[in-house]
Amino acid sequence: MKFGGTSVAGAARIRNVAPIVAQRRDESPVVVTSAMAGVTDELDRLIERALGGHRDDVDRGWSALRARHLEAASELAPGDDRLAERLDGTLRDLRVLLRGLRLVGTASPRSRDAVLGFGEMLAQELLVTALCGAGVAAEVVDSREVVVTDAAFGAAHPAFEPTRVRAAERIGPLVARRIVPVLGGYLGATPDGVPTTLGRGGSDLSASFLGLVLDARVVEIWTDVDGLMTADPRAVPQARLVAQVTFREAAELAAFGARVLHPASIEPAVRGGIPVVVRNSLHPERPGTTIGRSGDALQASPRAVVTRRGLTLVTIRAPEQIRRSGFLSEAVTRLEGEGGTLFHLTVGPVGLEAVFGEADDLEHALAPVEGVSVAVVPELAAVSVGGEGLAGQPGTWGRVLDEAARAARCLRVLQAPRAAALGLLVREAEADGLARALHDALIGEEAGS
Ligand code: ADP
Ligand code: ASP
Ligand code: MG
Repeated sequence: MKFGGTSVAGAARIRNVAPIVAQRRDESPVVVTSAMAGVTDELDRLIERALGGHRDDVDRGWSALRARHLEAASELAPGDDRLAERLDGTLRDLRVLLRGLRLVGTASPRSRDAVLGFGEMLAQELLVTALCGAGVAAEVVDSREVVVTDAAFGAAHPAFEPTRVRAAERIGPLVARRIVPVLGGYLGATPDGVPTTLGRGGSDLSASFLGLVLDARVVEIWTDVDGLMTADPRAVPQARLVAQVTFREAAELAAFGARVLHPASIEPAVRGGIPVVVRNSLHPERPGTTIGRSGDALQASPRAVVTRRGLTLVTIRAPEQIRRSGFLSEAVTRLEGEGGTLFHLTVGPVGLEAVFGEADDLEHALAPVEGVSVAVVPELAAVSVGGEGLAGQPGTWGRVLDEAARAARCLRVLQAPRAAALGLLVREAEADGLARALHDALIGEEAGS
């Protein structure tokens, strides 16, 4: 049972989690928690401020984080000095790290991970307190002693066998004693104990991976919406629940931007044949979305409109170089070296275009290469219409393009492998309007559930 940031955003929400877990007590639940909503973003900001030497701002930010967690603690367990002391100890370690970053002035991916994981370490204490307070015996299990990863800081990959062994050692005995283990999501450590994170939004992956190694019956992702929907309900109020989808369709919708699920979280579930159910912690009586081997019959109409923000378009004109063997991989490697993650790639006879997420300085990555000119357009979003049944339905693509052209200025069309989705690249500000228009025209009120 994984509870996302909004499900543990404050004392009231955390308290609300207890009965959801309590109901499952006879099924030996294992709980994974995210940081309180917004905390990882704030830690990320504090790293930048520390590197910039903004001492007062970092102190203020740290104090606010401290106040937020201690306040939640005193609401959940008034007068529990040991809890406050534990949280304070963790917070002091965080302050030391932030000071270190400020003094050194640079942060390796390794030191960033050390800081970014603090939100989950604090949240797990609060959740255990709430569970115990509600009469559910629970104990913190340090994910860094269980989830063994490689050293790809910022997006580490958990390793099956060592994690399985550690989980059996650390989690198994608690479950046998009917104690609910509570682990921070997003966190791991290399075999020699250096802290890593699984990438932003990675608590979903923590949950499905632990589900795999523990041979769970089901992985539940508890969040703040009813499940996987036909669009982001924040942008498209008409969005409807998708009751059942296949692993593959869910993975692709997630990869194209359905934030409710981390794209990498599906793979372990597929490997273990474990269904993943996305549910609303504010409405635990609702059934949610079941992702499994079988889904609804393939639909002739699109399943969902999903949006991925924070993209950068890089256009590389290289009419001579493009024919040189090895140029393509070199170009992509250099661009990835600037911190970007590749979202989409188009290759043609005079060059290539790549769409990157989370990119830094893409313009300069290829600047020194002779015969190559580079243009970069940041702050874009891809609004994609996706669904397993879409390939081979040219009529649908025509309608997508017509509607898109009416609703927004589309810079590029992006096609997914197997034609399972068609995306439109637009300025971020136009994304929600385009998503609404496409949802209205292609999904409307009926389909999806
Ligand atoms: P959590 O903290 O629970 O992990 P996230 O913010 O990561 O929550 O994911 C939940 C959010 O995902 C929802 O609040 C919703 O706005 C957004 N979202 C984007 N696309 C979709 C979609 N297709 N279906 C459901 N939610 C979506
Ligand atoms: N707290 C982490 C993040 O905000 C991990 C997660 O919530 O899944 O990215
Ligand atoms: Mg999430």
